[in-house]
Amino acid sequence: MAMHLRFVSFVCLFSLLLLLSSCTSSDEFTGYSYDPEGVTNTTDKEIQEQHKRTIGVSSTGVWISNEFDGARMNNFYRVKDSLYRVVIEPENHPINNSPWYSFKIHSDSPQKIRLQLAYKHGKHRYFPKLSIDGEHWSPIPLSRIEADTAAGTATLTLDLYEEPLWVSAQELLTFDDMQQWADSISTSASVAKLDTVGYSHNNRPILKISAVQNISTRNRGVLIITGRQHPPEVTGGLASQYFIETMLNDSELAKSFRDKFDILIYPVVNPDGVDNGHWRHNGAGIDLNRDWEHFNQPETKAIRDDLLPLTNDSSRTVYYGIDFHSTNENIFYPINRDISTFPEDFTYGWIDTLIKAAPDMPINVEPFPPNSPIAKNWIYHTFGADAVTYEVDDAADRKKLEEISRQTAQIIMRQLLEEWNKNKK
Ligand SMILES: [Zn+2]
Repeated sequence: MAMHLRFVSFVCLFSLLLLLSSCTSSDEFTGYSYDPEGVTNTTDKEIQEQHKRTIGVSSTGVWISNEFDGARMNNFYRVKDSLYRVVIEPENHPINNSPWYSFKIHSDSPQKIRLQLAYKHGKHRYFPKLSIDGEHWSPIPLSRIEADTAAGTATLTLDLYEEPLWVSAQELLTFDDMQQWADSISTSASVAKLDTVGYSHNNRPILKISAVQNISTRNRGVLIITGRQHPPEVTGGLASQYFIETMLNDSELAKSFRDKFDILIYPVVNPDGVDNGHWRHNGAGIDLNRDWEHFNQPETKAIRDDLLPLTNDSSRTVYYGIDFHSTNENIFYPINRDISTFPEDFTYGWIDTLIKAAPDMPINVEPFPPNSPIAKNWIYHTFGADAVTYEVDDAADRKKLEEISRQTAQIIMRQLLEEWNKNKK
């Protein structure tokens, strides 16, 4: 018994030491619970290029294609009778379980088929969305999907015609869509300007929207926004669009906000991943949101180099950073409350206001120590500013998502203005 007790206290002491060291050292971080091993080694890895093609079964006249931006479909064949299988593979592995798929399927003559989604290195996760034009989407009816959680597959019942049917993990929000959107808000809101700050691994532009309205004010705040580091996280991308539109519109609030704050936005950090239908990584097989310490990738490096001059700019102070993502719930990851940031506890303040304003909305908060090489923590370490990882539910009702995103933008603008007024010299 005594031996046993001594062992227990030894284990406690050991765990306490481990805990203390992980809180104080940034070298300890090796990945979150859902990350694959080696995630913090961000030097280029091999990726498996997706073969772009239209393939099918000529005897039954069923055809499938991945020849469009954002598509992912690696193989397709008939299993038996009217049962077919589509095989979905990641860009490389090990990889987090965010198995993106997107393809078009049609039939020479009308027929009903069963289509099994089968994944390599992953299990079914995203509830399928259907579209007949690639623009308007609806979730597949519940009666038409059977998921096999043990096997990690899902089988869909589809009516096929000569006109293609899009089947996708989420609605498509391609790099081209984001670029057109960025272009249109920059043109229509004369306060914003669209630039390229660098190029991705596969040479796509890293976009920047800057709203710098009042260049004559010597004491301006800065808000930094990033998004789409992880390609399948479409709801985070949509939320960022509504959020940004609200900050760039001509409401009195937005105008007075921009009078005091510059807004610097990098809306698509991972354009290669978005267009190649990647599950998680960039064109060099790397999780970009683990590269904000070593900066081995051109995408993170371009954004860092664009922002670093702010550290020597006495007329501008970074107040806040927001990095948009999606997961299986609405959750905000602030920096641990005991860490001192400027402004202090800003994230906790606006979340409290949002929860009061939208009491029916499930919102979770999970603070983290700033010891991982993610965008939010780089903002804190570089500028001392507070920052948040803003995660939107994959399954969020899209109307509600729009409403909440606009409301959150208003709350954050108001509260940043209050902070600015407190701190003006
Ligand atoms: Zn993410």
